[in-house]
Amino acid sequence: MAHDILTAVRGLVEEAADILQLTPTEVARLVNPERIIEVSIRLRMDDGSEQVVQGYRSQHSSLLGPYKGGIRFHPDVTREEVMALSLLMSLKCAIAGIPFGGGKGGVRINPKSLSRAELERLSRAYIRAIAPSIGERVDIPAPDVNTNGLIMAWMREEYEGIVGHASPSIVTGKPVERGGSLGREEATGRGGLIIMQELFHKLEKKRTPQSITVAVQGFGNVGYHFARLAEAAGYTLVAVSDSKGGVSVPKGLSVASTMQCKREKGSVSGCYCKGSVCDVRLGKPVDNTALLELPVDVLVPAALENVITKQNAGRIKAKYIIELANGAITDDAYPILEKNGIVVVPGILSNAGGVVVSYFEWAQGLQGYYWSLDEVNMRLKETLHIAFGQLWDVHTTHTISIAKAAYVAAISRIIAGMRVG
Ligand code: GLU
Repeated sequence: MAHDILTAVRGLVEEAADILQLTPTEVARLVNPERIIEVSIRLRMDDGSEQVVQGYRSQHSSLLGPYKGGIRFHPDVTREEVMALSLLMSLKCAIAGIPFGGGKGGVRINPKSLSRAELERLSRAYIRAIAPSIGERVDIPAPDVNTNGLIMAWMREEYEGIVGHASPSIVTGKPVERGGSLGREEATGRGGLIIMQELFHKLEKKRTPQSITVAVQGFGNVGYHFARLAEAAGYTLVAVSDSKGGVSVPKGLSVASTMQCKREKGSVSGCYCKGSVCDVRLGKPVDNTALLELPVDVLVPAALENVITKQNAGRIKAKYIIELANGAITDDAYPILEKNGIVVVPGILSNAGGVVVSYFEWAQGLQGYYWSLDEVNMRLKETLHIAFGQLWDVHTTHTISIAKAAYVAAISRIIAGMRVG
């Protein structure tokens, strides 16, 4: 049976808890969310029929600030999954040093089967259902898998209709035209690149970006922006994929034209693009499993959770993994990767750019004062630079892997908060 994500995340936390010699009560406070809201949502379909779908919001920790985290629409959403993801959010906010605890929500539905009007009704119905339990200073949702800025704009509007006044910071990840922050859309990808550069500043000082090859699994909002920004920073992108398949171009591909090809064809599978020219006959198709095992310097899982497991970890040839999808690597894969000398930066730091700029968006909305793109990007870089520095200190003082150090650094922050008073 596949390792479920809650067991996997709790496993990682317990391991770090051992290193920190936490008490059983502290561990219990860490692994259990403070509150889980479970709702049945009535969704009226375009044909007049009605469906009842399950929705959740897990509020993990309010110790360091309001709950913060995305909402996903996916047929595999479960109570356990949102519990695990809300715990990861607490760790992410803690390591990034931003004043939030973790939250995560989800609706168990396949949004791809819905019309736009159905999707809007679902988004509004979900926020109505959880409205009594959220607030600008209570719990602030954001986009996650299959949710986006437009959905956040609907949710903001619905919420404001309930409370009867403007509440721009009730959700983040909104379109800029509806109170969002400049730079939020690409922030997770940008943050991933910043972390990769921080890592190479320590470990690959002598190599040029051009000599470093990168494969990205997932060409959605996160994977695409990461690939685009990494290419712009000089790295050689040799493979990308989406849910339908991928393409591998050992000499390096062009991200912008690969995206163009995906728009035209519906998938990057076989899109061989050099410069602005694509020839789908030349691309070597590579499926999502094979992409993970390519001989590259950096592997970036940016699609779904549980893709690097005990089963395939031994076949990974990359030297570095920058985990952009939450929970892409299961806990039982880590010892294998570590034994093989693969350096992993876990998602709690490498994909923290999204929530960091969400924090900026939240602060801007509360102040009613909006920042320039340069200001946002400069502060993002600074925030992640500090977070990486702290992780590095833990890595060197405890002589533990970077992956473990990330969990230890995050948990230390939360525990310090618990031990006050
Ligand atoms: N869903 C994103 C994450 O997992 C963003 C959360 C947020 O911005 O609150 O980090």
